[in-house]
Amino acid sequence: MYFISTRGGEKVTGAQAIVQGLAKDGGLFVPEKFPVITRDEMEQMEEMSYAERASFVLAKYFDEFDVGFLKEVCETAYAKFDTSDPVPLVRVNEGLYILELFHGPTCAFKDMALTVLPKLLKKSCESLGIKEDILIMAATSGDTGKAALEAFKDVKGTKVAVFYPDEGVAKMQRLQMATQNGNNVFVSAIKGNFDDCQRAVKNLFADETFNANLKEKNTLLSCANSINIGRLIPQIAYYFSAYLDLLTSEQIEMGDEIDFAVPTGNFGDILAGWYAKKMGLPIRRLLCASNKNRVLADFLKTGTYNVKRNFYSTMSPSMDILVSSNLERLLFEVSGKKGDVTANRMKDLAKNGEYSITQAELKAIQKDIYGNFASEDDVVDAMYEIFEEYGYAMDTHTGVALAVFFKYKDKEVDEKDETPMVVLSTANPYKFPQDVLYALSGNDVKDSFKGVKRLNLLTAMKPPKALMEIRYKPLRFKGALANDIKKMSDAVLSFVDGNIVPEPTGEGK
Ligand SMILES: *Cc1c(COP(=O)(O)O)cnc(C)c1O
Repeated sequence: MYFISTRGGEKVTGAQAIVQGLAKDGGLFVPEKFPVITRDEMEQMEEMSYAERASFVLAKYFDEFDVGFLKEVCETAYAKFDTSDPVPLVRVNEGLYILELFHGPTCAFKDMALTVLPKLLKKSCESLGIKEDILIMAATSGDTGKAALEAFKDVKGTKVAVFYPDEGVAKMQRLQMATQNGNNVFVSAIKGNFDDCQRAVKNLFADETFNANLKEKNTLLSCANSINIGRLIPQIAYYFSAYLDLLTSEQIEMGDEIDFAVPTGNFGDILAGWYAKKMGLPIRRLLCASNKNRVLADFLKTGTYNVKRNFYSTMSPSMDILVSSNLERLLFEVSGKKGDVTANRMKDLAKNGEYSITQAELKAIQKDIYGNFASEDDVVDAMYEIFEEYGYAMDTHTGVALAVFFKYKDKEVDEKDETPMVVLSTANPYKFPQDVLYALSGNDVKDSFKGVKRLNLLTAMKPPKALMEIRYKPLRFKGALANDIKKMSDAVLSFVDGNIVPEPTGEGK
């Protein structure tokens, strides 16, 4: 299987796509064509563990790797999860299911792919004969950063540098990153919001001097953001797995269609669902759920993507994004795989802050994807409703998806519609304890750990150990840098030289 750039031309192997991250023309790598999983194969997959299902999907794309290797990678990755089934499907009521994707080491769904990535990357380097050290650099809206740090910490031959927006991550997310251990990690806040941060990191990726300096230091730059195809492909597996779980528990029959609701920011998670549909999974519709930053919801309604608007900080910070990188992959597909068309749209976006697609393209997207958004009040109401009626507590990002599902059910489908809905749950509620507590009980507490305690009393859910530990871990990374390419470049190069291994400075309270 080869991967091609969304902006035309470049064609590479899976290993190259993983190591490179971005195509040379600035495009994203996409599979040359979508492999199919047949009904017969799905029947075989019914008997498999999650790790086996995931490796089965990976093998369809990364056929250059040994199947046994992929299986071992997935088994080691998902053994790090704190549940015997790494992705439990919870039945809320007849027709509504929640797929919990947050049982990994950092309590958010980013672990689904990032626990797999280090070994895929190392193997890719090996097969390409790359001898240099790899520097993973990432911009994070909160969860990718921690998941990347945790996945790559102390992995030989790699270093990780993570930048997060100083306005815009939750306290738990900040503490998780600031207390990161390992001797190959670097974390810094950047002044501004996530879009500023993402843009700064993208510019650094493209900076020739920076890359030349790294080369002198025998280091190759790669990325762990969801623009890396190695992040995207492992996420396809849980769509199949949810379907197979519904089959084995006799909630559906083979071939029945189901819907998914996906809390969306950078469009990676939902795109993996769209890939699953392309591979033959009977998905009727994917709900693209945005928070108050509703740029995707507006795009899916009008066909115009316009970032010239206010940026809001919400209770779902990992979705506070205006430029959804992975949408480029969908645009490429619906344009009929036209690299020049896609490149021009991305140019318009960078230059004028907007672009439009044709009505025919919009119609094609709308057939598969329903877009809407939820206000902060909608989210609180939805979370409360499900807690009140079924005793199920969810996080604020998942709450966005649920609220959008309620709107969809009200307006878009027939009252008698019985198509099962699977809501993807992307974070552990304890990652956002104050907002979750507020939604479920109306109580406002000032401190995150007090929030944890109260939430525990209210829900009797056990707080994850990984989050409880950070309260007493030393803070290592406290600084913020100006959004300035020279300053960021200097900091990263100094880190690569081994100069930044910060000393612990007090406790993470
Ligand atoms: C990253 C993230 C999202 C958004 O996922 P995308 O792939 O960026 O659309 C939603 N919820 C949580 C908790 C996240 O960490």
